[in-house]
Amino acid sequence: MSEKMLKFVNVDLQTPNKREVGNRLEDFKEIYDQFINDKAKEQSSRCSQCGVPFCQIHCPLHNNIPDWLKLTAEGRLKEASELAHSTNNMPEVCGRICPQDRLCEGNCVIERSGHGTVTIGSVEKYITDTAWEKGWIKPIKISKELSQSVGIIGAGPAGLACAEELRKSGYKITIYDRYDRAGGLLIYGIPNFKLEKFVVERRTQLLKDSGIKFQQNIEIGKDKSFEELKEKHDAVLIATGVYKPREINLLGNDLKNIFPAMQFLTASNRKGLGDKVEDFDNGLLNAENKDVVVIGGGDTAMDCVRTAVRQNAKSVKCIYRRDRENMPGSAREVYNAEEEGVKFIWLTNPKKFIGFEKISSLLVEKIKLGNPDSSGRKKPAPIPNSDFEMKTDMAIKALGFDPEDLPKLFGNSRLTISQLGTIKINLKSMETSIPSIFAAGDIVRGASLVVWAIRDGRDAAVSIQKYLEQKQISKAKAA
Ligand SMILES: Cc1cc2nc3c(=O)[nH]c(=O)nc-3n(C[C@H](O)[C@H](O)[C@H](O)COP(=O)(O)OP(=O)(O)OC[C@H]3O[C@@H](n4cnc5c(N)ncnc54)[C@H](O)[C@@H]3O)c2cc1C
Ligand code: SF4
Repeated sequence: MSEKMLKFVNVDLQTPNKREVGNRLEDFKEIYDQFINDKAKEQSSRCSQCGVPFCQIHCPLHNNIPDWLKLTAEGRLKEASELAHSTNNMPEVCGRICPQDRLCEGNCVIERSGHGTVTIGSVEKYITDTAWEKGWIKPIKISKELSQSVGIIGAGPAGLACAEELRKSGYKITIYDRYDRAGGLLIYGIPNFKLEKFVVERRTQLLKDSGIKFQQNIEIGKDKSFEELKEKHDAVLIATGVYKPREINLLGNDLKNIFPAMQFLTASNRKGLGDKVEDFDNGLLNAENKDVVVIGGGDTAMDCVRTAVRQNAKSVKCIYRRDRENMPGSAREVYNAEEEGVKFIWLTNPKKFIGFEKISSLLVEKIKLGNPDSSGRKKPAPIPNSDFEMKTDMAIKALGFDPEDLPKLFGNSRLTISQLGTIKINLKSMETSIPSIFAAGDIVRGASLVVWAIRDGRDAAVSIQKYLEQKQISKAKAA
């Protein structure tokens, strides 16, 4: 809580109040709501309505930010919410987890002129949270259900956004997902302290109430064949994300207590959702009282270190082979992690996991950065004789993700993929190499962002609708 707010709250709570002590929580909520309300209005009115909406251009959804800021400043929240929803299927999610410093806020004209950005993300969150609270967000009501159906593989943000848009047009939609809950990485990847799970669950419930069918615990390619889906639906969207963890093959890799990031994060998220997680309960996947080392420098690594801190680890270190300036993760996340006590060991490479049966330390070497490589980033090179050991009870590998082998998993070699394993699509129509099969989200882009997945899902919906309308016309002509 900010200093300003603490002062505000303290002053008010110290004021003699006629209400009973039992009402204090309610009082606090009122004060808090009022504070947030004032803050949102204050931030919104800071927008200069500059007429060159760099914020809007740099938002992948091209949200009409200046207009919803103006509406918020005027207290017209319902209209602000409707406007926010006209371009985004889950504004409250993006408001919470978009790396705004790289997108809208980083390009705010006020920020560029050195006066500090308008906090666009938190206003977006505030508008939509208020809309939920006031009951303004309602399930889709369609006047007539169409006969055509679409099957969507993957209930992550790309699949959910596409489903919602197509349902608005009246199509029958079924989403298939191998997890037991919908949301993809929103539910089992991104930690609760960044994105509360009820926020995801109320969205998926809204889609269920809108008539979209969910088939959970169904892995396409295993529990149901891809061909069956193709036969059953008029069009199919592949929105399966990327899940194959990048490996680091070091000596000692098979020692106990070395985990891939998703195993660690999923256990923690499941625990937060109230599931019984044996490997967490028996201490295996719990960082409490352990010296934890996370290997990697992206946002997943930041989520792992910050989760370990919240599990009361004895110490949390992050090792990364480049320096702070060349790190792929968001600067804001690194700052947050440092504030929470995480120690970053820059320019360091892991060499060997050491231990007997389970890991007890990690051997690392120091790195120096050379000339930039083809990607423009400085190339790391080891410094001879710079090895040292770090005490480690738990090591977490967060080195990124690659796509699974979908042509093999789906048993369809006609599905064309890139050299990186992502699905190749026609960039205009989003159709894959197989007619009637479309693809969107991380499985097309490689590991990316939620806001891009939503954008892709929406674009795919437009293309799928065009395809289905054309199909219907051709059918009518042939009849
Ligand atoms: C730890 C972590 C933290 C992140 N933090 C952020 C962040 O703060 N901000 C941000 O913008 N982005 C973040 N991201 C990235 C973001 O989560 C993804 O870019 C986004 O979720 C991609 O959406 P998607 O719909 O393409 O795929 P996903 O969200 O991965 O969803 C894919 C779904 O497909 C299902 N599936 C896969 N294969 C099959 C199959 N064969 N049959 C049936 N179902 C299948 C999966 O179970 C999953 O539910 C983070 C990613 C990770 C890993
Ligand atoms: S969706 Fe993301 S980038 Fe766009 S306005 Fe919202 S927070 Fe900014």
